[in-house]
Order: sequence, then structure tokens, then C-alpha cells
Amino acid sequence: MESSESILKRVMDKTTTARDESSAALPGQPDRVSICPICNDRGIILQGDTAVPCSCMEQRKIENRFRYARLSRELMNCRFERFNLDYYRSSDGMDHINNAKRALAASNDFAQKVLENPHEVGLLFTGPVGSGKTFLAASIANLLIENQCSILFLIVPDLLDELRASYSNKNETSEFDLLDIARTIPILILDDLGAHNYTEWSRNRLYTILNYRMNEQLPTIITTNLNFEEIEHYLGERTCSRLLQMCRVFRLSTEQDIRMQNYIKREKLKEK
Ligand SMILES: [Zn+2]
Repeated sequence: MESSESILKRVMDKTTTARDESSAALPGQPDRVSICPICNDRGIILQGDTAVPCSCMEQRKIENRFRYARLSRELMNCRFERFNLDYYRSSDGMDHINNAKRALAASNDFAQKVLENPHEVGLLFTGPVGSGKTFLAASIANLLIENQCSILFLIVPDLLDELRASYSNKNETSEFDLLDIARTIPILILDDLGAHNYTEWSRNRLYTILNYRMNEQLPTIITTNLNFEEIEHYLGERTCSRLLQMCRVFRLSTEQDIRMQNYIKREKLKEK
């Protein structure tokens, strides 16, 4: 069987704009990448008189898992072993690097344990923009997808836009679909829970998702640049208190935005 890394590479090569395609890849909307030369996409082959599943069926499952998870092309590359602690070294002490080590260890630990226990406590990464929160969340996602877990990676502002759009189109079925998937998917990642203009309506949608997941003990990973006071301010006390129950909290910080560090490095190389 083809390795999941090479399937991933193939999926990525065929993906034009990951965000666009992934939004079309909700369950129930299969989107094939290639035609199987063995079974011609029938999914079964004959062995003597018996029809057996073709080997491509397993590959399709893996492809679909990456698509359904809605990870963007950029994030499909995130792996624990590529999490670079050098970004966290600083002149003002060891806090940044120690926090980063703790967050990395907790992420690794979560990804291992959730494979054994589907009700493992989730994680919440807090910290400023460009401090590696999304990288860790995506690294967890990739490891779990490769281990056959059902996960969904949602960017909170996009999720709210989508819910609002489907709601205002009076297309209540699709709103319910996405809400329902976010509520019930075994592992949910909510990326970029930030200081948006939350309406009562969007606050309620987020509460509905988190409350259901807390009650069913379904692990949720959250990244946010808000502290708990701010989360309470934007999302309300009841949501804030649920997050504390559902997640272990880790703070990430750097002396300088990692994207800025990368930018400077890249420009230095270009100048050579
Ligand atoms: Zn086949």
C-alpha cells in the first residue's frame, strides 16, 4: 500500500487552492483525485469468482480524510519534528523556550494518548500572532489523520462566515450539517479564536458546539490570541468556563513574530 506521506503529496499536488477545494470536500461530496488503473474506480476487483475490495479503497479513505479535515496546503506540512525551538530563544530569559517545550510535549502527548482514549482532554494554545500555535495544532492534525482519526480543522472566522451564509440563504440544512459535523466530529480543531465582532448569534453557535463537545467528552484543540479575561469578554462566561473544563492551557510566545523571523532569514538569503 502507498504510504500516507506519498498519498498526501499526491493530494497536495492536485490541489489548486486548498481552502477552496476543502470547502467543497464535506462528507457526502466526494471529489476524486485520480482514476484507479487496477479497478477503474469500481472499488472492487475479481479474484477468481469472488469480488474483493481493491487496494485503492484504503488510499481513497486516507485521501478523503485529508480533504475532509480541511487542512490548507501550508498546514499539511506541519509536523512535530519540524517545530523549531530556535525561534523561541531570546535575550530576555528562558520563558519563551520553556513554554514552547511544554506546549510541544503536551501536543505530542495528546496526539499519542488520543489514539488510545477518544475522550482525552483537549488543548488550548494562547499567545500572540506568529508564536507557533497553529503550527502545533496542525501538527497534531496531521499525525492523527495519518493514524486514521476523523478530525476537522476549522478557522473560527471562516466557520462563522459559513454558518452565517448558509443561515441567511435559508439553507438551514447546510447550516445544520456544518454545525452538526463540528459538534460531533471525534476531534475538532478551532483555529484563531480571536477578537472578532461576535454577535449574540455567533456566540451562541460557538457555545452550542463547545457545550455539546464538553458533554460528550470529545477532544477539542483551540488556538487563540486572547487571554481568558478577553475570551470571557468576547464569548461570555459560560463558554469561557467550558473551555477551561475541556482543555489544558498552554502559552506560546516569542521575542519576535516567527513569520517576521522567517522573512528576515529569507531576505538575507536572497541578498547573498
Ligand atoms: Zn482500485
